[in-house]
Amino acid sequence: LQDPVASLRRQVRECQAKLPPGWFLAAYYWDVETGGMDIDQRGHGLAHEQFMATIGIPRDGGLADLLAEAASDEPRFAAVICEDIERSGRDTFYALKLEKELSLAEIPLYATDEPIDLNGVNATTVLTRRVKQGVAEWFRLQLKEKTWRGLREHSLDGWNIGTPAYGYAADRVPHPVPLKASQGRTKTRLALDPPRDQVVARMFGWRVTDRLGLAAITARLNNNLVRYPPPTGDAGWTIASVHAILANPKYTGHMVFGRRRKVNGKTRRVPPAEWIWSPEPVHPAIITRELWDAAQAMGGEHASSRDSLEPNTHPATKRTYTFRSRIRCRHCRRRMCAQTPHADTYWVCPHNPRDPRHALRNPDHPPRVSIREDRLVPVVAEFCQTYLFGPGRAAYLAKLIPATAASAAARRDKKITALRTRLRQIDTAEDAKASELQQLGLQHDPGSRAVTALRKRVLARFTDLETERDTITEQLADLTRERRETTQHPGLLDALPHLTTDDLACAPQRLLAQLYQALDLQLLYSKDDDQVTIRAVLTDTTPDDIAAILATLHPSPQTSHPATPQASHNPAATSQATATPKVSFDPPITWSALHDHGVPPNGGSHPAATRLPPGCGPELGRPPPG
Ligand SMILES: [Zn+2]
Repeated sequence: LQDPVASLRRQVRECQAKLPPGWFLAAYYWDVETGGMDIDQRGHGLAHEQFMATIGIPRDGGLADLLAEAASDEPRFAAVICEDIERSGRDTFYALKLEKELSLAEIPLYATDEPIDLNGVNATTVLTRRVKQGVAEWFRLQLKEKTWRGLREHSLDGWNIGTPAYGYAADRVPHPVPLKASQGRTKTRLALDPPRDQVVARMFGWRVTDRLGLAAITARLNNNLVRYPPPTGDAGWTIASVHAILANPKYTGHMVFGRRRKVNGKTRRVPPAEWIWSPEPVHPAIITRELWDAAQAMGGEHASSRDSLEPNTHPATKRTYTFRSRIRCRHCRRRMCAQTPHADTYWVCPHNPRDPRHALRNPDHPPRVSIREDRLVPVVAEFCQTYLFGPGRAAYLAKLIPATAASAAARRDKKITALRTRLRQIDTAEDAKASELQQLGLQHDPGSRAVTALRKRVLARFTDLETERDTITEQLADLTRERRETTQHPGLLDALPHLTTDDLACAPQRLLAQLYQALDLQLLYSKDDDQVTIRAVLTDTTPDDIAAILATLHPSPQTSHPATPQASHNPAATSQATATPKVSFDPPITWSALHDHGVPPNGGSHPAATRLPPGCGPELGRPPPG
């Protein structure tokens, strides 16, 4: 806040003037930094370097050098003088610490605004010094509090502090105080920054609706830097930048203050319950508060099983599990975890029959649910080949959609019609009641007891009807939204490339894992019938994602993939992640290949594995022994 050059020159002048006869300045120790820092951290800054050339004051070091010199056997000075005692440290504790360290070296500390007693520091000097130190610290703390309160009011009024978050641009308006405005000062509000605001909306959708982890979202963003421009130039997205966006409450349109606080010079995160939200939205919202809350809650669900495709960086991790976070147990719906006791990988349900809480939650759970991975691999590959990448896929989907979605849609439409009919009946009933009331007023004495009683009853009935109307309107809105969201877009399937069983069988594990992620593949394993139910969802970004994944396999792709998927890329349609056009095999296909191939549960090699081309087996099947 002050000009360090002028300030330092004044301090040297004052010290020089105060020296008793015969004394001289043997060495100069100075720093350009805050006095509120810890004494051990002080004197190491490099801010002084920019002043060295012009300031014209010699420098023998900073505070650390002063203390080192004082503690040495033959210090170059017998006493230390500073301009003002509060300059020795704005925080009383550090000022006392400095004084103590100097006094241990038997070096007195003087100040230009105190009488200099050559015999040492006397009682009155100490009292003055302590009072001054107390006042200085009080002043500093009070200023800090006032600044904090000012910044809080500033935020609650909707003004932004610092760089606008990704997705927003700074909308500078003249300062509301006329004097400050005349000096050209401005305040900043947040304004949407298309197309980045849409990227933010998508990210929240991926996190909440598609339940993707941070690493998966980062990978998806990095797959298409043109569509998802990264926050900083072309450096790409990082997990940290994705995390910062998903945790930023300002996207709800509210200004939020006090998410971080400085305590003892260290920046601390403040628990969300203590954040200060502006009561009203103060800038355009990109997402709803509900979506933001849901995104914050996602962290816990994800904790147990990683969905990143990058191998864990822990040195003990040797393999990437292709099905990580994709398999759930049908009995308890929990994610199954990979275990590799020997050569084979098993997917195991975390259910523990000896844990009373587990037993209580799922009384009918089998004691142990597990499936060997090499029994799953060929089945999943066959599912992908048949339903997603094979020549007959459109026919399979056409067969599936009428069977499943159509019946659900018919049920929904029937319900919608019934509700609309009921609404019309309510209209008629209300009209009748209204004319009844009118007649009553015309034909009878409006003050009579009978009329009052009847009117009361009619009103009560009217209220009931209105309540029913509200409920029905809400139900209708839900159903219409459901119809919009679950509408299938079978055309998306055409945008996927054609792959053969060979392509899939020879694909390295990592690529398969990426493919499964792009397809949002979910497996549900039931021990009872030894069946796995496989579900895949295509959204309008899936074809591009898959093309990008395959491009890493074949630099010159032999597979054909139409450039534009049929679904629209209209940002308005995709801003709400739940409205993303998609095609899903839902309810899922129950793939009974495990049974059909006659595999004994948990044993024997899968016959499907023998259909894989020779030489490709080890990639997909069980790893070679040892
Ligand atoms: Zn289970």
